Amino acid sequence: MEFPEIIKISRQLNDVLRGKRFIDITLGDQNDKLIKWGFVNLHKHDIVGLTIEEVFPRGLYSVLRFEKGENLVFGDLIGRILYHPNKSRLPNKYTILFSLSDKSFLSLQIDQYGFAYALDDNALSNHKYFGNQGLTPNDERFSYGYFEDVLSKYSKHHVKKLQFLQNVISGFQNGYFQDILLCAGILPYRKISKLTDKEKTNLFKCMVEIIEKAIELEGSTDEVDIYGHPGKYKRMIGTRIKNRICPQCGDVFVEKNILGSPSYFCMTCQD
Ligand SMILES: [Zn+2]
Repeated sequence: MEFPEIIKISRQLNDVLRGKRFIDITLGDQNDKLIKWGFVNLHKHDIVGLTIEEVFPRGLYSVLRFEKGENLVFGDLIGRILYHPNKSRLPNKYTILFSLSDKSFLSLQIDQYGFAYALDDNALSNHKYFGNQGLTPNDERFSYGYFEDVLSKYSKHHVKKLQFLQNVISGFQNGYFQDILLCAGILPYRKISKLTDKEKTNLFKCMVEIIEKAIELEGSTDEVDIYGHPGKYKRMIGTRIKNRICPQCGDVFVEKNILGSPSYFCMTCQD
């Protein structure tokens, strides 16, 4: 789940949760591991009974703001957040189940990792991830000057590094960033210092255009919203990638492990 999905989900959660309270939180077995890794702390930070005032996006995270300066952060998530208007439609499997004061439910399914972390305002603004999110490409302050400044600070790194800099450019994981690099015609393992001015402006343009398009299309077809409906943005480089061909030229995408995770790209369209 990346920024375009988080925007949509935050808006939907704001509509259905505002003014309600959690009356019970059930943690499934999988939480032992998530608690140990630091992704979940709901066993010790109590938010039951507090009214939800607002839900808003922040980079890769959706923040539920409660009364009395408390917050619950969902995000950096491989999984799904689903809303259930009543008990008859509850899923068999969930990582965390939230019962709401109007007898509706929210379920969180964490497939590999993801945060469900409660903290007060002060801890939120000082948190190393949640409190330190940079500009997203749809932000009006995200100018070419800002982007160029980031490039010069990280000039010694590979281009792929840009997707991990949540404190300066937030909201990315591998998905949209791969499409951005295909759009810009740049290989992920190029050194930032070796990019031409034209490649830098292309990269900026593709970053803004693809993210705005994904927001407009309400996220990727691979991800679902809180009602289980997928988005309409079709990835150029999808998730089930084996033997997939480039929609621009017909060549087979190449896989390479870069900075600790697999990257897919087209040797014909990217340089
Ligand atoms: Zn291609």
